[in-house]
Amino acid sequence: MTTSDPRIDPEHFAASLLAWFDDHGRRDLPWQENRDPYRIWVAEIMLQQTRVATVVDYFRRFLDRFPTLADLAEADDDAVLSRWSGLGYYSRARHLKRAAELCVEHHEARLPEDFDALLALPGIGRSTAGAILAQAHGQRHPILDGNVKRVLARLHGIDQWPGKSAVARRLWEIAAKLTAKRRVADYTQAIMDLGALVCTPRKPACGGCPVAAVCIARAEDRVEACPGRKPKRELPERHRYALWQVDEEGRVLLERRPEAGIWGRLYAPPLVEELDLAHRGLVRAAPIRHGFTHFRLTLTPVRIEVDSQVSIMDREARWAGRADLDDLGLPRPIERLLKRHFEDRLTWQEQCIA
Ligand code: SF4
Repeated sequence: MTTSDPRIDPEHFAASLLAWFDDHGRRDLPWQENRDPYRIWVAEIMLQQTRVATVVDYFRRFLDRFPTLADLAEADDDAVLSRWSGLGYYSRARHLKRAAELCVEHHEARLPEDFDALLALPGIGRSTAGAILAQAHGQRHPILDGNVKRVLARLHGIDQWPGKSAVARRLWEIAAKLTAKRRVADYTQAIMDLGALVCTPRKPACGGCPVAAVCIARAEDRVEACPGRKPKRELPERHRYALWQVDEEGRVLLERRPEAGIWGRLYAPPLVEELDLAHRGLVRAAPIRHGFTHFRLTLTPVRIEVDSQVSIMDREARWAGRADLDDLGLPRPIERLLKRHFEDRLTWQEQCIA
């Protein structure tokens, strides 16, 4: 896999982005008032899973209560969590507090300026460490948050899922290559802003994009496909026969399903994994498919003519006619099959299955 596309010149890219940032970038966010590493750190952590518009108020309240790293380190856990209340992902607040304590113990109550020391603190990953050092100290480090992944993937026409390690590695390499050599703090904010304001997940405003001229996804009309989505997990397949026992009045025998397992406490025909010799030569209807969270079920109704005079031993079983459909708790696929049965639309195939 090649890294950065030779058509994208890093210097030209950074210059275009910075020129756009000067006119259109966000410059009035409360953590941009100064380059205080503590404020940038708190903002970066809050922004990890939360949108800017939500973070602004939380950030102000948090900084009012804990204006310095030492204040945060000394605070009660409850006080910190209460200022986080509503932001969600509370492990972020716990990590922030713990990291502040570690900075007091080992770094003279300041955030370390060394990348590895910063990365070693709880809750600070590679992109967050890079963003803090770039914005607070102008150190040249790439960042790769969700917005930046999207921008870089589209720019390079990468239609694979960034969660794959090979794709993530390539994106990091691209990010490192494209990161500006000058005005690193502004560049860092600019590429985040581009992702948040222009190269948005849906309907990106390519017409107003400062780097549209070199964007491969745009040139190849593949913007929607880049980056690729997380692949859906293949669900296991299961098969069951539904023993469709029908009496001389056309009623169907249903039993209440056990509490545990699928369709707990609902009524359904007995479901079996395999047919035995007693079912040899029966007819079946077309199978239906139904998706559960953890598997997909294929259900084949197998018709069995039964004499209703045969007493039902199971108290949780009953004969169901057309009039009973509204009163019984039925799983949707079974309800649909029963309706088709009562409307004579279930077609039985003369096919030996056992
Ligand atoms: Fe994103 Fe469109 Fe710009 Fe490409 S041209 S980087 S898809 S906004």
